[in-house]
Amino acid sequence: MIRFEDVERKVEHYHPDANLDLLRRAYIYSAKEHKDQKRASGEPYLIHPLSVAEILADLKLDVETVSAGLLHDVIEDSLTTLEDISGFFGEDIASLVDGVTKISNLGKKSKEEAQAENLRKMVLAMVDDVRVVLVKLADRLHNMRTLKYLKPEKRNRISQETLEVYAPIAHRLGMSKIRSELEDLAFQYLEPDDYKRLKEEVEKRRAPEEIFIQEVKARIAEKLTAEGVPFIRIEGRIKRLYSIFLKLKRQKIPLEKVYDLAAIRIITHESRDCYFALGVMHKYWKPFQDRIKDFIANPRENGYQSLHTSVVGEEGHHFEVQIRTEEMHRIAEEGIAAHWKYKEGKGADASEDERLKWLRRLVEWQQDTAQSTTDAMEFVDSFKLELFPRDVYAFTPKGKVIQLPRNSTPIDFAYAIHSQVGDQCTGAKTNGRIVPLKYQIENGDVIEILTTPGHKPSGDWLNFVVTSKARNKIKHWVAEKQRAESVEVGRKMFEKEAVKFRLKTRHVLDSPLMEKFLTDNGYARMDDVFAAVGYGKLTARTVLIRFVPEDQLAEIEHAKTSRLQQVTTVVKRALRIGDDSITINGVDDVLVYRAPCCNPIRGEEIIGYITRGKGIGVHARKRCKNVGNLLINRERIIEVNWEEDGNREPYAVRLSVITEDRQGQLAALTNAIANIKTNIRDARTDDHDYKDGIRKIDLTVDISDVKHLEKVSSALKSVEGVLEVERISAAPINN
Ligand code: MN
Repeated sequence: MIRFEDVERKVEHYHPDANLDLLRRAYIYSAKEHKDQKRASGEPYLIHPLSVAEILADLKLDVETVSAGLLHDVIEDSLTTLEDISGFFGEDIASLVDGVTKISNLGKKSKEEAQAENLRKMVLAMVDDVRVVLVKLADRLHNMRTLKYLKPEKRNRISQETLEVYAPIAHRLGMSKIRSELEDLAFQYLEPDDYKRLKEEVEKRRAPEEIFIQEVKARIAEKLTAEGVPFIRIEGRIKRLYSIFLKLKRQKIPLEKVYDLAAIRIITHESRDCYFALGVMHKYWKPFQDRIKDFIANPRENGYQSLHTSVVGEEGHHFEVQIRTEEMHRIAEEGIAAHWKYKEGKGADASEDERLKWLRRLVEWQQDTAQSTTDAMEFVDSFKLELFPRDVYAFTPKGKVIQLPRNSTPIDFAYAIHSQVGDQCTGAKTNGRIVPLKYQIENGDVIEILTTPGHKPSGDWLNFVVTSKARNKIKHWVAEKQRAESVEVGRKMFEKEAVKFRLKTRHVLDSPLMEKFLTDNGYARMDDVFAAVGYGKLTARTVLIRFVPEDQLAEIEHAKTSRLQQVTTVVKRALRIGDDSITINGVDDVLVYRAPCCNPIRGEEIIGYITRGKGIGVHARKRCKNVGNLLINRERIIEVNWEEDGNREPYAVRLSVITEDRQGQLAALTNAIANIKTNIRDARTDDHDYKDGIRKIDLTVDISDVKHLEKVSSALKSVEGVLEVERISAAPINN
């Protein structure tokens, strides 16, 4: 079991002058606060902060960071406050601990939203002091190592977040050792079957591979010595499971087809020896032309430096070779953490680090568009996007290099030059030829952006832009435009309604009563009220009723309500789109309809969107491709629910069955459905769908809810020859 003395000895070893008294006090404090607490494994809780501190000590970090590791959970799990920590251990340690502490009061937020809020908090703290994320990564690493004690659902959520967020952060910071371990652990929990199978297969090949590695190492050493190239050591290893897994997936090949399971590393004293060693390798082993990479002359954005080559060995055995100096090796393994080695004090010298540029850029853009800063989910989406390495380089006509993420378009390019260039972009030329705005930029393209003064961005661009800067700016414009429209619509509705109440708009607007209404309800201007009316968040009636003299109220009301009821019923009957089985909190008598774009069914997660004039459209939150765009206008989103004991009439759902082309297959499918007492409205198969003995059959069936759909889908899948059953989003025409 881990002991404090081990951590202390490690720190003392790499940093003899360290303030060990601080470290000891942090330990005693943590031990006192976590006393009697237990981990899910049943062990004393203290083991966790101690292990986190040990991981930080293994990275040879300064004593403050290691102390923060000891204290990182005390605020969350005990009565300790931030002020206590700051008083006992100083501001730096306090802000490190604060950066990794979850926000305690998030009210009714969903798990996803809470996760996003916490991640954003950490990222913002990390911009000021990158050590925050080092503590967080150490915390996550130990949690992942002990994940087996948690419930499967929680295990999956944590593994997912590790793979999507923390491993990529470690990668961007150049910390490949921690990244690798995080990925392999997450892989084990997220794809247990693939993991197990791959592990077994690799184990079978381990013994011969190890022999091969030993032989090839000896031979390389012999050749380097013979050619007079100095080196420190040669390492050999079998690649990590997760990277093999990705390779199999990417190339769609079985493991037997992977020839380069082994990787060799040559560590030298100086960088020129790396090039000499590469020469020797290519003299005795045949290299693959397109696999030779010089990351010494062109380091990766995360600071990684090395020479790479892939060569063919005896009996066609491929292997990869990395050649680098000891210093490059240390940076490749530890990345940004290498900064604090043997150093005391705040990470000020790291603030200009290349590895953090992308992060500062992201935070700046977010602060630029005040609107987005309020939305943590969106921030996290942008953050995740930026986590993946940028790898397209394009040029302006004057030769300036613009670096962009993969799949970037001329619009992204335009925004990267300047916001105004992006806003006014009307066309683009690549290498002298006009290309569509959604053209995907390739390395080395020379791009000329055509602009028109006064032009405004279009909402359609959101379908293909990639960078968060472009996305944020466009969303900002779209929201602005929609708001202007809503103000217009709201004003008209307001004026129309005023007539019904026998009021003069001018009168109402100038009245001191209106002044009071604005302040009481938190509206800054009359335009805000109009916008709210236009969005359907507020009815003009709610506002106007205050201005009607008491004695006239009853009469007007009577005339109005009876007419309104009539109209609503008539509309519902005529259009048959009102859905009785969906309720809206606190709102009655509104037309609700299931959006035809995604055709949600009972039991699915849904959101409502206030449309102008058509009532409230209900969309499937997870499935609908329009939801992303609807979320731009958060003000128009409304919570909707399936009514517990509402109308149980079935919905028509379209399914597409991909099947081997067998005789009598249509009958087999319809039988399978009839067997579970489900009605089929329509079945059709198209000659155009014939393809290499594969056929597509579309079925429209009556479905009462999500569970029912699952049942039907698995009944279809169990029919022999069926390869896939897909739900077609759009509503059937005969619904
Ligand atoms: Mn923790």
